[in-house]
Amino acid sequence: MNISFEFFPAKDKQSENSLWESFKKLEKFKPKFVSVTFGAGGGERDKSDNLVKKIKSNSNIEVAGHLTCVGMTKNEINNISLEWLKNGINKIIALRGDVREKNGKYKPHPEGYINAADMVKGLKKIGNFKIAVAGYPEKHPDSKNEKEDLDNLKHKVDQGADRVITQFFFDEEKFLRFRDQCIKFKINVPIIPGILPITSYEKVKNFSKNCGATVPNWIKKEFDGLDQDPAVQQFVGASIATDLVKKLKTEGVNEFHFYTLNKYELTYAVCKRLLAKNNIKLTEKINKNREAQI
Ligand SMILES: Cc1cc2nc3c(=O)[nH]c(=O)nc-3n(C[C@H](O)[C@H](O)[C@H](O)COP(=O)(O)OP(=O)(O)OC[C@H]3O[C@@H](n4cnc5c(N)ncnc54)[C@H](O)[C@@H]3O)c2cc1C
Repeated sequence: MNISFEFFPAKDKQSENSLWESFKKLEKFKPKFVSVTFGAGGGERDKSDNLVKKIKSNSNIEVAGHLTCVGMTKNEINNISLEWLKNGINKIIALRGDVREKNGKYKPHPEGYINAADMVKGLKKIGNFKIAVAGYPEKHPDSKNEKEDLDNLKHKVDQGADRVITQFFFDEEKFLRFRDQCIKFKINVPIIPGILPITSYEKVKNFSKNCGATVPNWIKKEFDGLDQDPAVQQFVGASIATDLVKKLKTEGVNEFHFYTLNKYELTYAVCKRLLAKNNIKLTEKINKNREAQI
């Protein structure tokens, strides 16, 4: 089973400590890579860039930098990515991004990439990058319908995207249907499910609204009455994520991208249980082979 973890740049000293504590804990699972989100705006942009480079120089784990089109010229994006390449970082997650204002509509920068597909095309021209793009099991809110959404994803792949990482979702059927639809639309690259272990029901309910993911009613019920009990919420969140990954594994999914929110506990618990089981199975298999040879 392959796993990867997403982190975001810390805002202050305290969150910086939490980020590195989480990184150190999760690093033990030997992820295929970790990724660093990208925030638009000068300061945010530098923080993302610095964190990508810091991970590269402080760890043996591969790092992927996210890049978004918002507020950036093509040149600025190209320069950041070429600098990463110089530092041995060739993995990029290419995204359109969102505007900051609430309900604001995305508009491309006059000298920028118009969207993620355009960025993939541009980056592939200038360097040997491995590029992942975003996929939406429940459709991106700006797409008029599912077909338009899948056509857009197909376009990103046709421009050279090597893999798709999905928005988070909570019902495995949503992902499995999306995977089937990708096959129908001839999107022939790996589709990696994005897994969000829920640390707080209120938070997930709020930020799900704008990002093309629904929080189903059964989740609401599982968290009902736990508002004042964050510790129990964490147990519930870890169980839900473990169940989801297990169900997907039975459907042949073998790679997972975890949205850690810079907190290790839940993702750690999920990976610990899943990978421990893997190890046991492997040991059993080795023992059986040995017995057969004796
Ligand atoms: C795995 C993953 C990682 C992410 N990481 C980040 C991150 O680091 N930073 C961040 O800010 N956000 C991040 N996001 C959120 C992402 O930026 C938003 O979901 C954004 O709204 C769409 O980005 P996209 O790359 O999917 O866009 P695209 O695939 O380019 O387009 C998505 C939708 O927007 C429409 N669209 C495309 N171009 C235009 C245009 N020119 N004008 C109007 N509509 C257009 C398309 O028709 C489509 O419906 C991430 C999402 C995922 C799933």
